[in-house]
Amino acid sequence: MKQYTAIVLAAGAGKRMNCEVRKQYLLLHGKPVLSYALEAFEKSEVNDIVLVVGSGEAAYCQEEIVGKYGFQKVRAIVEGGKERYHSVYEGLKQAAGADYVLIHDGARPLVTPDMIRRCMQEVERWDACVVGMPVKDTIKMVDAEGFAECTPERSRLWQIQTPQTFAYPLIWEAYQKIMSEADLAVTDDAMVLEHTMGCRVKVMEGSYHNIKITTPEDLLVAEAYLRWSE
Ligand code: C5P
Repeated sequence: MKQYTAIVLAAGAGKRMNCEVRKQYLLLHGKPVLSYALEAFEKSEVNDIVLVVGSGEAAYCQEEIVGKYGFQKVRAIVEGGKERYHSVYEGLKQAAGADYVLIHDGARPLVTPDMIRRCMQEVERWDACVVGMPVKDTIKMVDAEGFAECTPERSRLWQIQTPQTFAYPLIWEAYQKIMSEADLAVTDDAMVLEHTMGCRVKVMEGSYHNIKITTPEDLLVAEAYLRWSE
């Protein structure tokens, strides 16, 4: 039996939320944002979960989220780092021994056990896969003065979400390579593979519901989706 570990990231500062409470602990439909992703992984077929939290927040998360909601699969809570990729690296260290890892933003509460199952199936075939959806808007590259520079062909553009799922040895090697480089603009895990290993990453369909809570209006949208699916 293959071993699957989920790495759930919750070490971000959430500056764009303009709020004193970190976004992963804000209440969404009566429960903390972070508890939704943990619940989806708890109900899925993954073997265990590594939770990556902000500095000094491990005890709070253990008590107020993992303990309070009774999540049994969380086997480690570790502190993350300055950028998202530093936090992923801390999570990957704890996941040593896994065959596959599913890296997920704790700020995406609407991931489902079904999406997680599809990621687990696809990664066995491709070794690297990410979920995303075709963009609905036209996307432009804009120059430093705010003028449109070019317009990539919309039919080939996808907005990328998480989970991002990888064979552990592959993503571990890629992260070890980038950790020695300074100040990288790494915003997702697939980029790390593209950058270091020249590796093909399969893009599969996620869901338009699988939004990331980034600004206050995202909470309203997520709440609407949750009510809708009740
Ligand atoms: O900043 P961004 O919205 O891209 O963050 C995506 C996810 O990564 C969030 O769940 C956030 O908590 C996490 N993150 C992290 N460590 C950081 C920055 C972001 O765990 N240093």
